[in-house]
Parts: sequence; C-alpha cells; structure tokens
Amino acid sequence: MKTVSFPGGPQVPALGQGTWNMGEHAARRQDEVRALRLGLDLGMTLIDTAEMYGEGGAEEVVGEAIAGRRDEAFIVSKVYPHNASFEGAQQACERSLRRLKIDSIDLYLLHWQGHHPLAETFDAFEALKQAGKIKAYGVSNFDLENMDEALAYGAPATNQVLYNLMKRGIEFDLLPWARQRQMPVMAYSPLETAGREQAALLEHPGLRAVAEAHEATPAQIALAWVLHQDGVIAIPKAVDPVHLRANRAAAGIVLSADDLAALDRAFPPPRRRRPLDMR
Ligand code: NAP
Repeated sequence: MKTVSFPGGPQVPALGQGTWNMGEHAARRQDEVRALRLGLDLGMTLIDTAEMYGEGGAEEVVGEAIAGRRDEAFIVSKVYPHNASFEGAQQACERSLRRLKIDSIDLYLLHWQGHHPLAETFDAFEALKQAGKIKAYGVSNFDLENMDEALAYGAPATNQVLYNLMKRGIEFDLLPWARQRQMPVMAYSPLETAGREQAALLEHPGLRAVAEAHEATPAQIALAWVLHQDGVIAIPKAVDPVHLRANRAAAGIVLSADDLAALDRAFPPPRRRRPLDMR
C-alpha cells in the first residue's frame, strides 16, 4: 500500500476510510462496524470521521470498530465551525474522545471556516496538543487564501478537500501549493458520494473504457486515479464488503501514461483558478 508522510509526523496509508452517513440508523450499525473492521484488516487504517456525522453517531461507530485495535488505527475527526472557539473546540474534542473511546485523536480538523477567528481555534488546537488530546491538527474546505491565513496563525498538517476526476479544481493552485510545502492533501468524496453526480462519474464512457482495459470497475479506476496523485490521501466511504475489497484492490492498479491521458481527455484538468468545490 502506498503511504503518505506528514512532515515530521507519521506515515499513513494513502487509502483510508470515510464515515459520512454512518451512525445514523441503529439497524445499519453492525454492518458499519464490520465494514470499518474489514477496512482495518485490509490495511485501510486511516479512518476519517467528524462530530457532525450522525451528530456523534459516526464517532461511536468508529469507537466500536477500533475497540481493542486502537494501535492499528489513525483517527481523523473534525470540529464543527460553530464549536471552534477556544473553549468550545476543547469541549467538542473531549466529547469526540468519549464517543471514540480513545485518549487522543491523531489528527483533528476544523471542518470548514466559520465565524470564530482562526487564531483562536488554532490556540485551542495547540492547547489540546499540549494536553495530549490530539497529536496534530489541520483544516478542511480551505481555499488558497484561507491556507495563507492558516499558515500565519499555526501549523496545519493537512487540508481536507473535495477531489475526484470530476472536481479537479485544486490541481490549478491548492495542490501545487500544498506539495511545495510537503503538506498532504486529503481527498474527500473520491467517488463523488452518490446519486446523479456519482452516476455521471461512474457511467462516463471515458472512465468505462479505461476500466474495461484494466478489467476493473469504473469506481476502482476513479480511486486509482486519486491515489496516483502525489501527496494525496483518499478516504472513500464504503459499507458494502464488495466495495471495500474493490477499493483495496484499486490501490494496486497502476495507470499508464496512456490511461492518464485518456482520463484527462474525459475529465479535463482546470485551465484557470476556480472557487473551491465543496459539499
Ligand atoms: P465517496 O467515498 O466518494 O462515495 C461513497 C459512496 O460510494 C457510498 O455510497 C459507497 O457505497 C460507494 N462506494 C464505495 N466504494 C465503492 C466501489 N468500489 N464501487 C462502487 N461504489 C462504491 O463519498 P463521501 O462519503 O462523500 O466521501 C468520503 C468521505 O470523505 C466521507 O465519508 C467523509 O469521511 C469525508 N468527507 C469529508 C467532507 C468534508 O467536508 N471534510 C465532506 C464530504 C465527505 P457503500 O457505502 O454502500 O459501500
């Protein structure tokens, strides 16, 4: 499995697991726990969650999945912007730790920028680090100008943003900027989440042609493409064990220069700066 390094920090697998939409229905909980455990077995040991997902429910699912396996997992969670005051962020982190049933979060992110001053949020993150409650911190959904501000106030370890074949805007500025600073970027929604937008990606004839040539599924090629990008960590969410195994196998797919050129024709890279895509 390809790994990505945080500067001065740990190496993590480039392929992790997302948890958005988990922890929302009791009837699905055991499938979700089993899925995350299977993901750990397969080496997808970075698990991305947030206090927002299922209003704490997803963190509880993660807590159950990693019980007895804490050392295998690299846990990423996120604070709501409205909780990101100096006191609020520390209290939110304590609540997340209780739901996750762990002593320390490996990477704690500001979910998106809200009304609390960034300097105050980062002071809270530094205090949490000092107290051993988090090991590192970062941001999410930050555009380039937000990142300049972030570096003025602290040392975020990552920026987690929307990135997939259909949403390539960060290649124009944010991704080169992060690479210059050896800052890993976490790509969320690598499979375009669900619904019509996911269908537009996975049913695209250009993607299907590359998939057929590799005897792979379109989703596997879409994921292999994200994983091909330097310094990028992909965090697909999958509950179906078939999807989990397919995603793990996608990490072994090597795309040729011809494949990459075909994908560029089907999903052109950005030619100019665009506002950051979000969902
Ligand atoms: P995603 O990972 O792009 O897509 C998830 C969907 O794709 C699920 O319906 C899943 O189905 C399906 N799937 C997974 N593997 C598949 C495969 N091999 N073949 C076909 N379908 C497959 O969407 P996402 O949940 O939006 O993004 C991933 C994670 O990023 C989230 O869970 C969350 O942790 C994070 N995220 C962060 C932000 C942020 O603001 N920071 C925003 C959005 C997401 P099953 O579940 O049925 O297997």
